[in-house]
Amino acid sequence: MCGIVGYIGNEQAKDILIKGLQKLEYRGYDSAGIALVGNSGIELYKEKGRIASLEDAINKDASGTTGIGHTRWATHGAPSKENAHPHQSVSERYTLVHNGVIENYQQLKKEYLHDVTLASETDTEVIVQLVEAFSQKGESTEEAFRHTLSLLHGSYAIALIDNADNDTIYVGKNKSPLLVGLGDGVNVVASDAMAMLHITKEFIEIMDEEIVVVTKDNVQVKTLDGKSVTRHSFTTDIDESDTEKGTYNHFMLKEVDEQPFVMRNIVQKYQNDDGDIKLDGDIRSAINDADRLYIIAAGTSYHAGLVGKEMMEKVAKKPVEVHIASEFLYNQPLLSEKPLFIFISQSGETADCRGVLVNVKKNGYKSLTITNVPGSTLSREADFTLHTYAGPEIAVASTKAYTAQMAVFSILAMDSARAQGIDTDFDAIQELSLIANAMETLCDQKDVMEQIARDYLFETRSCFFIGRGMDYHVVMEGSLKLKEISYIQAEGFAGGELKHGTIALIEDGTPVVAVTTQKHVNLNIRGNVQEVVARGANACIISTETTKQDGDQIVLPDIHELMTPLLSVIPLQLIAYYAALHRGCDVDKPRNLAKSVTVE
Ligand code: GLU
Repeated sequence: MCGIVGYIGNEQAKDILIKGLQKLEYRGYDSAGIALVGNSGIELYKEKGRIASLEDAINKDASGTTGIGHTRWATHGAPSKENAHPHQSVSERYTLVHNGVIENYQQLKKEYLHDVTLASETDTEVIVQLVEAFSQKGESTEEAFRHTLSLLHGSYAIALIDNADNDTIYVGKNKSPLLVGLGDGVNVVASDAMAMLHITKEFIEIMDEEIVVVTKDNVQVKTLDGKSVTRHSFTTDIDESDTEKGTYNHFMLKEVDEQPFVMRNIVQKYQNDDGDIKLDGDIRSAINDADRLYIIAAGTSYHAGLVGKEMMEKVAKKPVEVHIASEFLYNQPLLSEKPLFIFISQSGETADCRGVLVNVKKNGYKSLTITNVPGSTLSREADFTLHTYAGPEIAVASTKAYTAQMAVFSILAMDSARAQGIDTDFDAIQELSLIANAMETLCDQKDVMEQIARDYLFETRSCFFIGRGMDYHVVMEGSLKLKEISYIQAEGFAGGELKHGTIALIEDGTPVVAVTTQKHVNLNIRGNVQEVVARGANACIISTETTKQDGDQIVLPDIHELMTPLLSVIPLQLIAYYAALHRGCDVDKPRNLAKSVTVE
């Protein structure tokens, strides 16, 4: 969520910081700012709204070879210029950016800053004022920074500059992501490696409750009590071109189109030379030793988890529960004797999941993270990681990460079944190869999807999606996609459930998208379609070669019934995309949303 960049080197920092912030835009934000420090002192620019407005506001001659930048996703105080970061201390000696939430900021203000008038409504400002207060009591900047951080409760990624020393950036983190990038005579700071790939591919991780003192030639990692820590760097394999739109107008469309490639990539990564599944033996044992799997996720990943449950139960005969992370965190159900926790998170930074993981570890249970970002917090902290190999997903609305998560579950299910000696005809690898081809065919039918979006969704206020079994899971995802980016009120329903109340909302012309890929409930869902059509609904039916009837709008090629969500979601993603486009919505950066949700 939101982001931080920092630069210290020999070049002018302004454009480098702006480019870095642009790379973080996809995470969602409502205001942005930068601070530059050079020979002529500090220059501060911030604006509400898009980075383009910030760029317009920056003085063309703004200079400084050290600087920090920020995109804010407001938690304390409205999105406004005053509340935008960077924030400054009263004397303007210290300037700071922060991502996260300081839970005890009011107590800190009361205890240490009663004589300071704050200029913003943010929790953040307290941090920079505390650094100044401690420095005025005689502490060095580093001491004051560590002292301040040791008092904070909550989550933070912070970068601080000192007007009296333009050769240093102080950074620190707890729970919120932050990396330091290493160059030759230049070092950078970023919430996400993608923001600084134009400078370096070599990074070091910062652990919770550590600080890093960054100069252009040196980085020093320390604990909050000042002990030096040795940390090795890693080289990221993300290519800068993976983070560009290329010929597409939107990342979302590019990412929808990348799904066939992602499926083939997953097949390749999870297969050895003999064509068998390649999986860490410890993960296999952890799955098979568990008496119950607990899938913990949020949003789209939760929907992938629902499909993962079906695969693990039907193929690998493992009992599974799927939980919304934020609910599980404060309302834990009765657990089985030998649970294994599986976290699903595109970014690997989802705060709600991390909260659960911290408790899981405290209780000594084993955990596995399925993520698109190995090295992310959830990946580092869980016992095991499975990589979804989808490549950077930039659009806020998740598409390829969702299908990749389900693909990984299909492999896990097949592997677990084989390891347990369960006789199954389910061949995930073969199915994924078929799916890749079928996805390509569907992605080539954009004109059909665009027409459906026009016919059904151009003017509507609301839309219902219905399905049963696997199709129920996928319609929940389809409705989420539509509401996220087009702001049409949409609901995904179990086909049989609609008549128990919600059917009251069906009126003349209400669009109802029905997905029917499961042979044993095909006639049931068609009955449900009749019920809504009889009340004026405008039905759009997505079926398969096996379940099709005359007049269905989209017919999918046949694949294994357990895998149908990987295919039926493609038209739902594309229909949502075109519906948003027709309404003039900002497809890649929908309002109020952030890509990686790093606050609880
Ligand atoms: N809590 C801080 C604020 O509201 C930081 C939010 C963020 O992470 O962008 O200003």
